[in-house]
Amino acid sequence: MDCLFCKIVAGDIPAKKLYEDEHLVAFHDISPQAPVHFLVIPKKHIATLNDLAEDDKALAGHILFTAQRLAKEQGCEAGFRVVMNCNEQGGQTVYHIHMHVLGQRQLNWPPG
Ligand code: 5GP
Repeated sequence: MDCLFCKIVAGDIPAKKLYEDEHLVAFHDISPQAPVHFLVIPKKHIATLNDLAEDDKALAGHILFTAQRLAKEQGCEAGFRVVMNCNEQGGQTVYHIHMHVLGQRQLNWPPG
């Protein structure tokens, strides 16, 4: 399958990994939008949030919990943001779901 993030999971494309376990990988975004900006992705290929199935609920919770644990480890006690872009209008560019975690600067609302 021609998926960039599947290639990162497989180790075919290098990434600066923060964490990895049986189900997911977390790595720094190549184009950080904040001093801390990493992505948490499932190892399993799921194209968009719309493709999340009933059986993926535990995986989704694991992604969210890992995001907050790593945000703390990265020194984001003052606050951080998690984002999952879905499909073109949602701003998604890589079609393998990923949770962005951004922190260590003041984040504004609404996003662009
Ligand atoms: P999206 O726009 O789909 O929500 O986010 C995709 C993210 O993946 C972007 O923030 C982009 O910078 C990041 N990205 C794209 N290609 C690579 C890559 O090869 N390595 C890493 N580490 N991040 C990437």
